[in-house]
Amino acid sequence: MARYTGPVCRLCRRERMKLFLKGERCFKEKCAIEKRGYPPGQHGQRRGRKIVGYGIQLREKQKVKRIYGVLERQFRLYFQEADRRKGITGENLLQILERRLDNVVFSLGFASSRAQARQLVRHGHVTVDGRKTTIPSFQVKAGQSISIREASRTNPQVRASVESASGRGVPDWLTLDAASFTGKVQALPSREDIKLPVQEQLIVELYSR
Ligand code: SF4
Repeated sequence: MARYTGPVCRLCRRERMKLFLKGERCFKEKCAIEKRGYPPGQHGQRRGRKIVGYGIQLREKQKVKRIYGVLERQFRLYFQEADRRKGITGENLLQILERRLDNVVFSLGFASSRAQARQLVRHGHVTVDGRKTTIPSFQVKAGQSISIREASRTNPQVRASVESASGRGVPDWLTLDAASFTGKVQALPSREDIKLPVQEQLIVELYSR
């Protein structure tokens, strides 16, 4: 599946908030939001631009897409799947996104960003229940174990990420055994487990127009 390959700090500036797409750099002074916290482009600094209605809904959708690194086509398929399932569509959508294997690898602290997690998965460094899995969009299930392959545990990038993420903690629906580079899905994530500043109802309203 395709992915965005352009400048990522620009995406944060467009949403006027940190989306934490670049790992360590996002916590440093070099962060573009710290230096230029206005939208990119020639008219980015124009004053008095008020976003209303459709614009608010669109920005919320773009924000979530960008956080999880998903493009429009796949995001819309996720929405359709969320809509088909029982329960609240917005919460179903977030749960589907949260259960992506690249997101789980990031949440467990094996990578410093979702983009890096995606690369680890693509390059075959990750196993699910002992089997190599190279599909970043793979949906994890309750009870599954996610590990870094034994041969990859000495990878300096992985080690550095695990060390830097050790203070970050893992979400309640996952558990981590850092010594064995293994995480477990205790239960599927509920809305309370997803701490992102997102109003998913706006996305549902956007797609329901
Ligand atoms: Fe966003 Fe991180 Fe770039 Fe800051 S450094 S603008 S948080 S991607």
